[in-house]
Amino acid sequence: MTQTQGPAVATEFQGSTDPECIFCKIVAGDVPSRRIYSDDHAVAFLDIGAWHRGHSLVVPRRHVPDMISGEPSLAEIAPAIDQVARLLMRTLAADGLNMFASTGAVAGQEVFHLHVHLVPRYADEPGLEHLVSHASVPDGELDSVYRQITGGR
Ligand code: 5GP
Ligand code: ZN
Repeated sequence: MTQTQGPAVATEFQGSTDPECIFCKIVAGDVPSRRIYSDDHAVAFLDIGAWHRGHSLVVPRRHVPDMISGEPSLAEIAPAIDQVARLLMRTLAADGLNMFASTGAVAGQEVFHLHVHLVPRYADEPGLEHLVSHASVPDGELDSVYRQITGGR
């Protein structure tokens, strides 16, 4: 049977893990990450290309290309999003936070495993015009924020 083609937003893969997917490898622990939270459905870790201190990604454990592919999956990671947002605000003394997820290359999605960005914001760089930063973040800075969030655990 020929299936109706949707918009070109994701690969065809709909299984529980994709051996080629970097975030599946992070969830499995095969690729290292600075993991700050996990539960039965979701894992959260620091973004290696952080726009602001504590920029984190919340991903479902199962491989889902994006929020509109296959079985709806945003709801299953909602408790994790809630927990991680509060964790970041509390431990980093952030002044605000942006939450967003991109769907499709045209929207800026680069990794095709659903992920919600949680970006803590600070009063010295306010507003949407300062949301995106292209400055690279040294490993030492990521290690430092990781220790601050996790309390060194
Ligand atoms: P997107 O543009 O798809 O919404 O966001 C993908 C995000 O994943 C980017 O912010 C990028 O920095 C992050 N990222 C890509 N590869 C890795 C990785 O191997 N580890 C971590 N921690 N983040 C990654
Ligand atoms: Zn994946």
